[in-house]
Amino acid sequence: MQSLQTQNYRNLVVLTGAGVSQASGIPTFRGPQGQISEAYMRVADGNNVATLLPEMWATHGAARGRLMKIAPNPAHVTLANWETKWRDGREITIVTQNVDGLHQLAGSANVIEIHGSLRRSRCTNVSCNSEPFVDDWTPDESFVENPTWEKVPRCSVCDSVLRPDITLFNEALPLDELQRVKHALRDCDLFLAVGTSGAVAPASEFVRGAAYNKARTILVNLTPMETRNPYFGEEYLGRAEEILPQLLD
Ligand SMILES: [Zn+2]
Repeated sequence: MQSLQTQNYRNLVVLTGAGVSQASGIPTFRGPQGQISEAYMRVADGNNVATLLPEMWATHGAARGRLMKIAPNPAHVTLANWETKWRDGREITIVTQNVDGLHQLAGSANVIEIHGSLRRSRCTNVSCNSEPFVDDWTPDESFVENPTWEKVPRCSVCDSVLRPDITLFNEALPLDELQRVKHALRDCDLFLAVGTSGAVAPASEFVRGAAYNKARTILVNLTPMETRNPYFGEEYLGRAEEILPQLLD
């Protein structure tokens, strides 16, 4: 595999998905056919926040607990090193669908989290003026077995229940973040999507934006695109943590 000769580019946007964190031991919640279990779907559905928040905390809070023992893998580290190397007026923007915060832990500074972060909580009261905050609250065993509203963590400002600061299914992506992505894509001359499907939004829309601006567009994923997205000019198949160090050499 040839390196991408990154010295020829000035503005790089890297979209990362679940495949980038897999080598760190983060489960994707998708089966071999890409399906999501019904039980997980219930607690991952934004329409259920009002009724199932305790169950959501049991699942996502436990996942937060596991996150704290997980380290970035060579895919994260390669991207972070690249950012350090790439100063002198060049920009690297990482746009991630992952909620694990591993890019930042590896040292990446310019990261846009379009699905939020499991490391943060936020108030469910939309008129509360508190901001999302880094939170290490995790449920104990008895909560996981028997999640109750009384034990759901509460906002220190207004005492409403808190929720994980992640975007659930049926919820809109955060507007500020999308605006930042749009801005980054406008100046982008090299676009990589790594460990994410090239066919599904938002990857499919982001790559179209990059291609429209005449960027070189590349997909790195374990499996080939089911329906070919014509906006990707190149496709490399394999594990992110093995391919990225070669491409970005
Ligand atoms: Zn509040």
